[in-house]
Amino acid sequence: MAERSIVYLDNNATTRVAPEVAEIMQPLFCDLYGNASSMHSFGGQMARYVNRAREQVAELIGAQPEEIVFTSCGTESDNTAISSALETQPEKRHFITTRVEHPAVLAMGHLLENRGYEVTWLGVDSRGRLDLDELAASIRKDTALVSIMYANNETGTIFPMRDIARIVKEKGAQLHVDAVQAVGKEPIDLGELPIDYLALSGHKLHAPKGIGVLYVRRGTRFRPYLRGGHQERGRRAGTENVPYIVGLGKACELAARFMQEERVQVSALRDKLEKGLLAAIPNAIVNGDVEKRLFNTSSIAFEAVEGEALLLMMDQYGICASSGSACTSGSLEPSHVLRAMGVPFTYAHGSIRFSLSRYSTEAEIDTVLEVFPPIVKKLREISPFTRGR
Ligand code: PLP
Repeated sequence: MAERSIVYLDNNATTRVAPEVAEIMQPLFCDLYGNASSMHSFGGQMARYVNRAREQVAELIGAQPEEIVFTSCGTESDNTAISSALETQPEKRHFITTRVEHPAVLAMGHLLENRGYEVTWLGVDSRGRLDLDELAASIRKDTALVSIMYANNETGTIFPMRDIARIVKEKGAQLHVDAVQAVGKEPIDLGELPIDYLALSGHKLHAPKGIGVLYVRRGTRFRPYLRGGHQERGRRAGTENVPYIVGLGKACELAARFMQEERVQVSALRDKLEKGLLAAIPNAIVNGDVEKRLFNTSSIAFEAVEGEALLLMMDQYGICASSGSACTSGSLEPSHVLRAMGVPFTYAHGSIRFSLSRYSTEAEIDTVLEVFPPIVKKLREISPFTRGR
């Protein structure tokens, strides 16, 4: 099948597997396929690969290797952290999270409400920022867990994790951080940050889909989510996915090595894209906290166009991005993140998230700058919001 060339600006959805990662995984399928928990030396060899990967992950986030639990994805890590914190503190029936979390956390909040827990949903301001006084005031004696994301997947807004951790610890609650979008982009040192649980996901940092990590701070009481065998020191049952674990280890090593370089290169491309689009298209605003943002993310709201229509028209040119709206029961609804920020209706509908990676090129940005403004113009001409103006 002939491949059409694509302009891939959807790296917060998923990333390309780094060639170095694919290469190191290759022999682990057909040649080095032992079970890392087996007694024989072929299995022992796999266990050593797994241990090396555990060290590589730990190094990237300033953790100890024994604090790293391999899981199947970020969602599993989030679900596990929340249920572990609540199961190990049965006397505490209060859970705090934010309105802008990923569904992996939001859905757990709704489940807990259905099970009779009290849940506090923290709001954000129009730039997607939390009110830390509100956070402090909401923590109670019976608060089992506060779950707050490090960086938002839609807008890239980074929450002030040092302050959040200080507040939560002063009040004596546990803290889980969904760092799926931040790991590999932001320097994280868990030796300094008093976080109890942290989730990350391989496919957001150039490892394959289907591998994640839950960090569990040493000394934190823990209940496994998947029960069965004794893998991962009894913290996550299921035969170790050695090739993917090794791939994730390599991806973490690469992220640690290239993070600073990427910050400079990728943010320059992101800024070129954003400035170019804002200059060419009137009535467009950047969503989120432009000062405290992931260096790869630009979410822009274009007035009086529909995000889905923008995506479809961009798709004709091979451009991949995401919109800030989703089809719910037949009608397009702005995402829960844009709604929580109070982005005006006619803007929220036309929000597009561009997210770059170390593989993004200037040529890709130039293509978008050439193709995108005429698309917006064309759609605005037929938009029900602007017709008759
Ligand atoms: N948390 C955040 C912030 C995410 O962006 C995502 C994925 O988009 C997840 C959790 C879920 O990760 P996974 O796809 O590995 O389950």
